[in-house]
Amino acid sequence: MNMTLQSLELKHFINGGYSKSKSNQTFDDINPANNKTIAKVSLGDASDIDTAVACGKESFEKGAWSKLSFTERANVLYKIGDLILENKRDLAMAETTDTGKPINLSLNVDIERSAHNFHFFARYLASLSGSTYFNKTDELHLTLLEPLGVVGLITPWNLPLYLSTWKIAPALAMGNSIVLKPAEWTPHTATLLGEIVNKANLPPGVLNIVHGFGPASAGEALTIHPDVSAISFTGETSTGKAIMKNASQTLKKLSFELGGKGANIIFKDANLDEAIPTALKAAFTNQGQVCLAGSRLFVEAEIYDKVVTKLVELAKHMVIGDPLQTQTQIGSVISQEHCKKVLDYIELGCKEGDLLTGGKTLTGMESDNFIEPTIFGNLRNDSRLCQEEIFGPVLPIIKFNDEDSLLEMVNSTPYGLSASIWSLNVNRCNYIARSIKAGIIWVNSWFIRELATPFGGQKMSGIGREGGRYSLEFFSQAKSITYKYSNDF
Ligand code: NAD
Repeated sequence: MNMTLQSLELKHFINGGYSKSKSNQTFDDINPANNKTIAKVSLGDASDIDTAVACGKESFEKGAWSKLSFTERANVLYKIGDLILENKRDLAMAETTDTGKPINLSLNVDIERSAHNFHFFARYLASLSGSTYFNKTDELHLTLLEPLGVVGLITPWNLPLYLSTWKIAPALAMGNSIVLKPAEWTPHTATLLGEIVNKANLPPGVLNIVHGFGPASAGEALTIHPDVSAISFTGETSTGKAIMKNASQTLKKLSFELGGKGANIIFKDANLDEAIPTALKAAFTNQGQVCLAGSRLFVEAEIYDKVVTKLVELAKHMVIGDPLQTQTQIGSVISQEHCKKVLDYIELGCKEGDLLTGGKTLTGMESDNFIEPTIFGNLRNDSRLCQEEIFGPVLPIIKFNDEDSLLEMVNSTPYGLSASIWSLNVNRCNYIARSIKAGIIWVNSWFIRELATPFGGQKMSGIGREGGRYSLEFFSQAKSITYKYSNDF
């Protein structure tokens, strides 16, 4: 399959074909590694969303997808997953030029996991069953999971194809039609997915993709559309609040995966040979632009100096540079605007704490969006750097003396997405894991994802869970059918 990389205009994908915006307007898709425009992108608005939703509704009602058997749908999902793997290089190139992330990350995480999303939900669908109750001899109660109709998916820029397919695969599995609004910074891989689903024979109109912005644009239009039954959203907490307000007008079902401020905790009895290099990855993978990042590191007082010295040394040796080179570990952040936001935090950190390494942008690159891996010590736990989601390569390290004060600090942010605990004492791990107010806890690990497990956050990090049966239940509605028998036959 020959994919259309870097075409002149990245268009909407509606009813199985590519189309421009009705307004004929476009916006720029910019490569943050050199600030050059890669492509023009069709700028969708409410009228493009209307068309996409109408096509979704028509395809749903015709039943060419929604009425297929689980097995038939699973076969198409498998095929989509296979085609993603077949086109791995093109998709990874598109992801890296849109985001500035290292090509190896695009290849081995983003695109691999996107394919896995389809393969996983295809398999999982086969194991799905409803329930039956036969309490009385003359009654039978069945519970069916029916599709919702047209669902709206809104996704962020940090893991574009991976997070879109994390929603698309289960939504398709349950028989829904979809309108996806990808992040405006990263429209490329979503556009290419249109070619892939056509090749896999997904019926036209089942997956529709409309590009554009959020407020007063395609994103908002999707959240208020009366024919959209549910919104699954991943992005910032503040955006989640706006979507909830808008979606309340038509009482949509909502699933929110929002921001995080993941705590990474190293106790003195941890295996430091594993804990320290993993802390580095947890803080700086994808330039720190990961919702599950270990973006606050808590280290027990007795080993604080040893951990800090080793971590700083490792950070200094990270390869930062051209995202297209395979040895690159840190590429550019997503945009000039985001770079400025991260540098403002670094400036504040320099005033309030000790800069231990990094703090500058790389010179000699084609853009100024390459930020060194940056580590701070001696910041107060209530400082903005320790409380707010920076979403960049910036790591505050905090010393702790006992479990009670540690837990107070860990639970002090408004977020509750994820945390990691490093200790060889299983009883301590159990106590700390249960005491942290977060949806996902890793013990002696980070970023391991088993897709059957519930994924989501507590507090301001989200509403609902996705993954395995949680996703399939979100993208469906339960219907109860009761049969009454008569002995009169
Ligand atoms: P964002 O909230 O700015 O944008 C996400 C998407 O929402 C984009 O497609 C955008 O166009 C759209 N949008 C913005 N305003 C909207 C509105 N009013 N109505 C409808 N749509 C709207 O987030 P981002 O900057 O793209 O992504 C980074 C954020 O995402 C971080 O906070 C990060 O933690 C979070 N995130 C969370 C998870 C998770 O699983 N919890 C995963 C990845 C990223």
